[in-house]
Amino acid sequence: MSVLIRGARVLDPAAGRDEIADLVFEDGRIVDVGGSAAAGAKQVIEAQGLWLAPGFVDLHTHLREPGQEYKEDIESGTRAAAAGGFTTICCMANTDPVNDTPAVTEHILRRAGQAGRVRVHAIAAATQGLRGEIMSEMVGLRDAGAVAFSDDGQPIMNAGVMRRVLEYSRGVDRPVVAHCEDLDLKADGVVHEGAHSTCCGLAGSPAEAETVMVARDIELARLTGGRLHVAHVSAARSVELIREAKDAGLRVTAEVTPHHLALTDEVIRGYDTNKKMAPPLRTSADREALVQGLADGTLDCIATDHAPHAVFEKDVEFTAAAYGVVGLETALPIALELVREERMSALDALERLTSGPARAFGLQAGTLEPGSPADLVLIDPERGWKPSPDSLASRSRNSAFLEREMVGGVVRTWVDGRLAFAFGEETPG
Ligand SMILES: [Zn+2]
Repeated sequence: MSVLIRGARVLDPAAGRDEIADLVFEDGRIVDVGGSAAAGAKQVIEAQGLWLAPGFVDLHTHLREPGQEYKEDIESGTRAAAAGGFTTICCMANTDPVNDTPAVTEHILRRAGQAGRVRVHAIAAATQGLRGEIMSEMVGLRDAGAVAFSDDGQPIMNAGVMRRVLEYSRGVDRPVVAHCEDLDLKADGVVHEGAHSTCCGLAGSPAEAETVMVARDIELARLTGGRLHVAHVSAARSVELIREAKDAGLRVTAEVTPHHLALTDEVIRGYDTNKKMAPPLRTSADREALVQGLADGTLDCIATDHAPHAVFEKDVEFTAAAYGVVGLETALPIALELVREERMSALDALERLTSGPARAFGLQAGTLEPGSPADLVLIDPERGWKPSPDSLASRSRNSAFLEREMVGGVVRTWVDGRLAFAFGEETPG
């Protein structure tokens, strides 16, 4: 059946398109944008005042299945993704068992095919058991479907191991996603080291815990010709290092999370464990550099680092609480804050959620090109809302943005032309 979405502001960053236009899709594929194919459409969706964009792409999601389904599973995690406008997500390897064998990769992809509402790609472990000692079987994992390699959650502390992983990344032509946090510098630090950590009596971790490892990994990418993707950049100096590496022509890409774009370490003064993540929230100068880096393209994309945790893991004293926050359902309004603050155009902000991440990993996604799958998101840029524990589709509630006034929400999400989310309606499973 053909569907016409009429009169939306169509934002297709890959094509540089930002105009009021009609879009038609049929049998799961985009047929026409801005042209004349609308005449025969069977179903018409009036979308005046709304924005229509390619479905978002998240390079950094923790789906927790297999093994930690009390936090999240593929069904609930992809439900949250669809509610946030994401149609393609890449899930991290720190499951139980760890995704370090082709059998686990294949299991995750099979389960995603059965239970997933959106497209799921698997990121496999870079080292066996995420122990940072012995490389995983990267060729076999790539052949099983892994789109990238990462020990995320754990930095690879041994530079010799990281060198070999990057050498192999070149051979298998997949990026290595680096969680840059030197554990010796981090020591017992649970928040950013600075005035606020001192005031709160919490042990701090300096920005250098990140920047030292970003510098190391860039040098190793230079040595090996490997593909390095720096996860969740949090420090101003990291942005400079990545900018220099890109200027030098190295194969380096990077992501920033919504919470690092929106919050600073000042918020830890409330001892709210939903503001505890790794790397930690840093200073307003760091935040400013991240926004600038995202705006000028040094940082290729916004990635959520969606990290669900159960109440009993967060509702404890600050030092004992788990690291991480959920993020799939609040990424869009945080990106739109940057548009309203005139830090980025709407087209650029959506680029960092669509074709930007797709390009970083080499994924076929994030475009409205006729013939592409109808992975679409319809956005109400004006809708005001407030995330609350009851309003989230994720199984977990550990959002850093509970009770923050948001503007902008998802109206509908389609994957392959199938409705994966409709605001205010029960979406067919
Ligand atoms: Zn990480």
